[in-house]
Amino acid sequence: MRAPKAKIDLSALRHNLATVKQLAPASKIMAVVKADAYGHGIQQISLGLEQADAIAVACLKEAIALKNAGISNPVILLEGFFGEKEFTQTLNNGFETVIHQEEQLQLIESYENRREYSEFLTVWLKLDTGMNRLGLNPEEFIDAYHRLKSSSLVKSIHLMSHLACADDITNSMSSRQVEQFKKVVKEINTQKSMANSAGIIAWPESHFEWVRPGIMLYGSSPMLGLKGVEHGLKPVMTLESEVFAIKHLKAGDSVGYGAIWKAPADTVIGVVAIGYGDGYPRHAKVGTPVLVGGKRYPLVGRVSMDMITIDLGADSEVKVGDKAILWGEGLAVEEVADWAETISYTLFCGITSRVEYEYYD
Ligand SMILES: *Cc1c(COP(=O)(O)O)cnc(C)c1O
Repeated sequence: MRAPKAKIDLSALRHNLATVKQLAPASKIMAVVKADAYGHGIQQISLGLEQADAIAVACLKEAIALKNAGISNPVILLEGFFGEKEFTQTLNNGFETVIHQEEQLQLIESYENRREYSEFLTVWLKLDTGMNRLGLNPEEFIDAYHRLKSSSLVKSIHLMSHLACADDITNSMSSRQVEQFKKVVKEINTQKSMANSAGIIAWPESHFEWVRPGIMLYGSSPMLGLKGVEHGLKPVMTLESEVFAIKHLKAGDSVGYGAIWKAPADTVIGVVAIGYGDGYPRHAKVGTPVLVGGKRYPLVGRVSMDMITIDLGADSEVKVGDKAILWGEGLAVEEVADWAETISYTLFCGITSRVEYEYYD
């Protein structure tokens, strides 16, 4: 049996949810579990987020997975529905949906005569305040609001927008986006939402009635140059495997594909059963730390599909079967992400189905 395992700490998840509540005490929490709960397992994570006021996913398929898991929190589709089939499925399952474009408004209007759907739908009308990805422009927004308001299908309308640069406290774009949002929605007395994790941490003026944490629930910081622990968060995922072979190298011997690293002196190499086939980043550079027995050892040579090699040093006592931690407890995922020139989000989302998941409390 191969050793790679993602251990998921559900009490850390609840701790992080409580941390969100402390940071945004006046707001309700829409916990974001898209992309298989950022690679943590959508069903178990959502069951662990019972205390969240709502759960948000990207698409219908993810929402249905929640329904099948018996989740009772309200579920919100962040990208809305695509086409009529998804629209009726959204209605029939009682999901809430983001509305961000004209086609969706027209579909809603085309169901006016369907009495069975009367006052059925809760929508989140999305304003584009500068992200220029999803959302209506300010000129279209108020008109869209009134169209929804007069629809017999619609039960409630909430308003939302999304921040583009909230991870950077030196960037004034977030303040401009908040001002723009406030300006456009000021006449409308309903619930509003803007803040992702970075907004929750760094931009209190973006909190409004609902916050939408994603990455911070999993214990990682969204902020440039910071780690989750610095916001009082705890890592939910610990990715671990085992040293399954030991090699003795002479000075000048190389390791792995491309022979990109040569031992500067006689040393011992540990081979760890994890590779890009498990989601460990192939671009992790020589020097990326790996934790064995509480000690850090540098990755040397290239990451292969099924294994990596670490330099244990000439008189190491590490032996075959010793546990190796790739990130999580004792080794911040943000640090590994830096070494691989990426962000924690992609490391989490990249874990493949070959890795075993173990949930504990
Ligand atoms: C993914 C997402 C979030 C959560 O973002 P984090 O940076 O992970 O906190 C919030 N809102 C929307 C619309 C999203 O798509």
